[in-house]
Amino acid sequence: MNLIARSRRERVEDRIIDSLKQIKGAYCLTIMTEDKLIGARDPQGFRPLCLGKTEEGSWVLSSESCGLDVVGAEFIRDILPGEMVIIDDEGVHSYPFATEEKKAACVFEYIYFARPDSVIDGQSVHDARFMMGRVLAREAQFKGDIVISVPDSGTTAATGYAYESGIPFVEGLIKNRYIGRTFIQPTQKKRDTAVKLKLNAIRSVVEGKSVIMVDDSIVRGTTSGKIVRMLRNAGAKSVHMCISSPPIGYPCFYGIDTSVRKELIAATKSVEEIREFIGADSLHFLSIEGLKQCVSKLNADDMCYACFNSAYPIEDGTKPAGDDKYVFEQRKKC
Ligand code: SF4
Repeated sequence: MNLIARSRRERVEDRIIDSLKQIKGAYCLTIMTEDKLIGARDPQGFRPLCLGKTEEGSWVLSSESCGLDVVGAEFIRDILPGEMVIIDDEGVHSYPFATEEKKAACVFEYIYFARPDSVIDGQSVHDARFMMGRVLAREAQFKGDIVISVPDSGTTAATGYAYESGIPFVEGLIKNRYIGRTFIQPTQKKRDTAVKLKLNAIRSVVEGKSVIMVDDSIVRGTTSGKIVRMLRNAGAKSVHMCISSPPIGYPCFYGIDTSVRKELIAATKSVEEIREFIGADSLHFLSIEGLKQCVSKLNADDMCYACFNSAYPIEDGTKPAGDDKYVFEQRKKC
């Protein structure tokens, strides 16, 4: 807002482009002026943004295509990385403002953030997540009586695991639908309370069973440990945990509140140490190579995997040298 306000250019579109050229990082913007609707996506395309149209002829911008379905709009196209669109009485005008940067779509959108009924850059989130479950089953080869998910974000991958392995998928954990995402809670105390309020095991389903449990990720490990204990308390004979992402060993500098590095369990523990920490009988994380197979509609090299491999796509000398992802904010406060 500050950059747009301070630009010396005349037209609003020029002021915005002026500003966007000064910004590095992940963003999608939607802006309304008195007579224009404006959308812009960052040059690397970290986050999704798409354009739709209603039957009445109104244009809609949405961060996910499922948002278009909700208002009865038809999907028209994705906004391209480094593109700004201006919608006015005459229709949609496209203004590419950065074309050369290497693309780096966030792979975590497909693992966890986006809704499965969305399609981003031509890749169905559901299909990617289902495939993660299938590849996970091929990699882990765990034998069990039932496959369950940590609802809801682990469910699509769990159905993929069941499909590939032939082991039935059942609902072993029930989610309280009025609780938000636990790892986004700001403090550990709030996250602990949220897990208890959020999930409960169904004893009649898991008792005496060897349970394969699929979840999308392990961030700090505390939630996973609680769920494993919950299943054992409900009588599960063994708990084999399958994670439809590689271990998160590095923080995200592109807008996702995953944690600072020292809080990420995979930053300091091996897979075996994590297994021990959460108390599971076995543990397998999807490999990065396996993950790449699951987003087959996209060019795997045009994606960001930095929270798994530390290959941060924006290398401009301003990336923090230490582990503290809040270093930018701290600098700013000074
Ligand atoms: S670091 Fe991870 S969460 Fe952040 S943009 Fe890259 S893939 Fe997405």
